[in-house]
Amino acid sequence: MPREYCGIIVAAGGCVNAVIYNGLRTIQHRGQESAGIAVFSDRLAVKRGSGLVHDAVSAEDLAGLAGNVGIGHVRYSTLGGQAKECQQPMTVRAKFGDMALAHNGEIVNSQELRESLMAGGWGFVTDSDSEVILRLLSVKMASARDVVGGISQTMKELVGSYSLALMVGPRTFAIRDPLAIRPLCIGRIDGTYCAASESVVFDTLGGEFERDVRPGEIIELTEKGFVSHHLPDDGKRAHCMFEWIYFARPDSYVEGRLVYDVRRKVGMRLAAEAPAEADFVVPIPDSGRAHAIGYSETSGIPYAEGLIKNRYVQRTFIMPHQADRESNIRLKLNPLKPVIEGKRIILVDDSIVRGTTMRQIVGMVRRSGAKEVHLRIGCPPIVSPCFLGIDIKNREEFVTHNRDIEAIRRFLGADTLAYASLDTLVESIGRGPGELCLGCLTGKYPVPVAGKVESR
Ligand code: SF4
Repeated sequence: MPREYCGIIVAAGGCVNAVIYNGLRTIQHRGQESAGIAVFSDRLAVKRGSGLVHDAVSAEDLAGLAGNVGIGHVRYSTLGGQAKECQQPMTVRAKFGDMALAHNGEIVNSQELRESLMAGGWGFVTDSDSEVILRLLSVKMASARDVVGGISQTMKELVGSYSLALMVGPRTFAIRDPLAIRPLCIGRIDGTYCAASESVVFDTLGGEFERDVRPGEIIELTEKGFVSHHLPDDGKRAHCMFEWIYFARPDSYVEGRLVYDVRRKVGMRLAAEAPAEADFVVPIPDSGRAHAIGYSETSGIPYAEGLIKNRYVQRTFIMPHQADRESNIRLKLNPLKPVIEGKRIILVDDSIVRGTTMRQIVGMVRRSGAKEVHLRIGCPPIVSPCFLGIDIKNREEFVTHNRDIEAIRRFLGADTLAYASLDTLVESIGRGPGELCLGCLTGKYPVPVAGKVESR
């Protein structure tokens, strides 16, 4: 099964192609394996391709994508999900017109839904859960004889995380799952009304952030503004804590919290929880930077850039093959020897999943002459897989598998190792534990995941 972690954009009003294109480039960090744009003028036009947004959609392609409404997608996938057919927006011809869908998240009951659709005669082109959503939407819209009614009925059957950008003929929608697990917000850029995975899109393109899409909300975007349709809100939320800790850009607001502030606060509390005597606090760029700044502020230990990042190499965690990840780290980071040599270093990062990259970084810092290496991590240990859209799937690959903290420290080669506590994480995010998904930290998920098989 493909496991996806993505970014989406919806736009309506004016010629939307440039807004979608530039918006996707702003959230390129959310997926680098494929990208696509679909627009509607008098008919649906779509362009998808592999690689970064500018690889997937050329200037010439963009000129051919003129439309007043449109959606866009950047995608990350793991093994098995890289087929061209899995690139999004996915399209289908249906009763209410041509449909295009872009999805961020993961549907826990997609296999059951797929089987039931197949029993009803539907065929599938991919094994993607996004295709299941698209087929289900077309079936439900036909039976409800209404687009919004069909979307509501579809949402009642989906279990899992989904932020959706949907076009049905000339109508376009932004939809968020009832627990608001994956982010989605709305705003305006000149005369164009937009929804995007991250608020930074509105900042970057000179627009205005309006608000987050509410749990279970269906927003129709038109050239005049936003029309909101609601599923009943039972008050439950389960925002993915990883958005604040790793995935979202530091300059994005997620549920009203600036990501940079959350990370800095975690670092400040971590310094009080797990002090160390050292000469410098050094971030692992870029993911550990805000945490390291916070750690340095509270501890009084000077902050220094001791690892220099090559910005032209892809983000390590986004690489789908383990071998690629390992060779990539050597291209990606270079220790600044004059900062590190003979010094006691506190290395700070946001989280550890497999530990293989961290082990190499600690080794590099030691080979550059560090006297001591103290590791501080801005998130509690990851002990359970994610079934809700993040590629942390195989428990046996986790550095925590069959290791306690001391064994992890030895494996990573650090002098000391400390993780932020769960309280620090939750209090720094500033939402109650009942409003967050903490499944990969606690093994307790906000939706039933019984029967889900961990990928190998
Ligand atoms: S299990 Fe972890 S990564 Fe997955 S949605 Fe929940 S908090 Fe986010």
